[in-house]
Amino acid sequence: MSAIDTLAGELAKLPGIGRKTALRLTYHLLRQSPEQSRKLAEALTTLSERIHPCSLCFNLTEDEMCAICRDARRDSAVICAVEESSDIGAIERAGEFRGVYHVLGGRLSPLDGIGPEDLNIPQLEQRVSGGAVREVIIATNPSIEGEATALYVQRKLSPYRLTISRIARGLPVGGDLEYADGVTIAQALAARRAM
Ligand code: ZN
Repeated sequence: MSAIDTLAGELAKLPGIGRKTALRLTYHLLRQSPEQSRKLAEALTTLSERIHPCSLCFNLTEDEMCAICRDARRDSAVICAVEESSDIGAIERAGEFRGVYHVLGGRLSPLDGIGPEDLNIPQLEQRVSGGAVREVIIATNPSIEGEATALYVQRKLSPYRLTISRIARGLPVGGDLEYADGVTIAQALAARRAM
């Protein structure tokens, strides 16, 4: 396989990039200076080498613990459970939530072979078992899998003395939290209901 095909093949695996765009990007990279390409390659390597999950909440970070977990001004007694790290970015952009997070690492999806053991649910249980957590807000996506995941988490946490709530349905059903606007997310959080 030629170097051009190899790169185009890799780029085509990215979301939203088809075969044609991948080739266009590859030829664009060929036209720019070797220095530019080296910088891009370096940035990609650094990304995979430096970024890893936060030891507490599984948010992606370059440090042992993410900036949100380390922030003493945040209320660590309120945990917002999300599917992916990218959901944290969406909620943070809304600017209303002052608690901390827990990244589940996906959603239950039997068809894709994703069961409870594949998600960071035991670690969430561990966090609330200390007794210092007042509320867990489950902010999984409003999809069938997201709802099933929310119910599963709720069942797992029900033995503990804390409020378990679910974000309101202001979000479009089947829509991704990641792409919702700040106002919608802020409203969904404010109108959360106990489970
Ligand atoms: Zn963290």
